[in-house]
Amino acid sequence: MTDPFLTAIPVLEKLEDAGYEAYFVGGSVRDFLLNREINDVDIATSATPDEVKKIFPKTVDIGIEHGTVLVLVTNGAYEITTFRTESEYEDYRRPKEVTFIRNLKDDLQRRDFTMNAIAMDRNRKLIDPFNGFLAIQNKLIQTVGSPSDRFQEDALRIMRAVRFVSQLSFQIEAGTITALANQVHLLEKIAVERKKTEFEKLLIGKNKKTALNILLDTSIFLYLPGLKEERKSLEKLIRFESIPLNINEMWSLLIFCLQFKEKEIEVFLKDWRLSIKEIREIGRTVHFLYKRLEQEWSIYDLYAAGRDTILSTERLYLVINQIKDIRSIENWEKMYDSLPIKDRTEINVSGNDLMDWFNKRGGPWLKETLLDIENNILSCQLPNNKEKIKEWLMKCNQK
Ligand code: ATP
Ligand code: MG
Repeated sequence: MTDPFLTAIPVLEKLEDAGYEAYFVGGSVRDFLLNREINDVDIATSATPDEVKKIFPKTVDIGIEHGTVLVLVTNGAYEITTFRTESEYEDYRRPKEVTFIRNLKDDLQRRDFTMNAIAMDRNRKLIDPFNGFLAIQNKLIQTVGSPSDRFQEDALRIMRAVRFVSQLSFQIEAGTITALANQVHLLEKIAVERKKTEFEKLLIGKNKKTALNILLDTSIFLYLPGLKEERKSLEKLIRFESIPLNINEMWSLLIFCLQFKEKEIEVFLKDWRLSIKEIREIGRTVHFLYKRLEQEWSIYDLYAAGRDTILSTERLYLVINQIKDIRSIENWEKMYDSLPIKDRTEINVSGNDLMDWFNKRGGPWLKETLLDIENNILSCQLPNNKEKIKEWLMKCNQK
């Protein structure tokens, strides 16, 4: 494993050389202490965004109002955020005002959980005023300060706690879970986009069964789009022993548990603010999954689905039928590999060829003929060869 901190050390040094403090913070420090793979290295500094921009020649303003500047250096790109407090909260949501500060401890104090409130300097020394390292050793999710106050400030933290249960297999500390359970109604005010990010991380976490159970036990599910009346469906989802599934596969599995018809899928996923592209992909997977649960793949369906959808559909088929042996996936993949064409564009004749050969203008006949050719190539009754296709067409035309 490469060490992402190592390459970021020159960035800290530059800030320090200019007279500021700079530390690694947040999820990267937590994951480092847990020996987990590190995604992004987050850096916090006492320098204001303007001061950061003076030090580094190449920067991008990605969240300047929150104090975040993206710094581009030879080794990569790093998000540098100015120490800040989020004093006033409005409506249990986002902070009304962000104030830049020069003090690290106050920055750590505004963070959600003690495990996320640890700073690490460039010599890997920890600055851990809230005993986050101890919480990590005890596998505990505990708010920094009063859990009740912290959930009031930003109720998204309720969902973040549960997604960390799923990702890290930690437990929520007793006081934190009590406050959480008492305040789930605050989630009503939280934007769906923010809930979606946490819910998706929850769905693909290793310990998702426990996390989903917490969603039910604490009634968080009542505040999630389209799931209010769906306790039974979520219980069904929890019962599946699942091989690792990606996020689109998890959405598809959830939809299967919800027993949604194809039309309902779009409404549900739109409510969750998924993009058109995501909705299309999940819709495809569910379409072929429903079909696959009724019958085996035909060559036409393999062709129409394409490799990624076939693999997703098969993984889901195995999960739903609780089949442990995953070799069948390979067999379907081999069958897909042996298809003479994978896409319409691979056919060796074009619409222009046909119009030429038949000396006819375009029209519905053209589409029909191309479709006919496509199907015959797929079923190996016709080689994908221009001359042979022409011969075959002429023969058919004489009949
Ligand atoms: P991941 O590894 O999934 O990115 P993360 O802990 O880094 O997890 P982010 O959403 O990237 O989560 O947030 C980075 C850091 O910002 C967190 O570790 C935490 O210190 C702080 N943070 C994020 N969201 C909140 C919040 N709603 N309230 C308080 N602090 C937060
Ligand atoms: Mg992060």
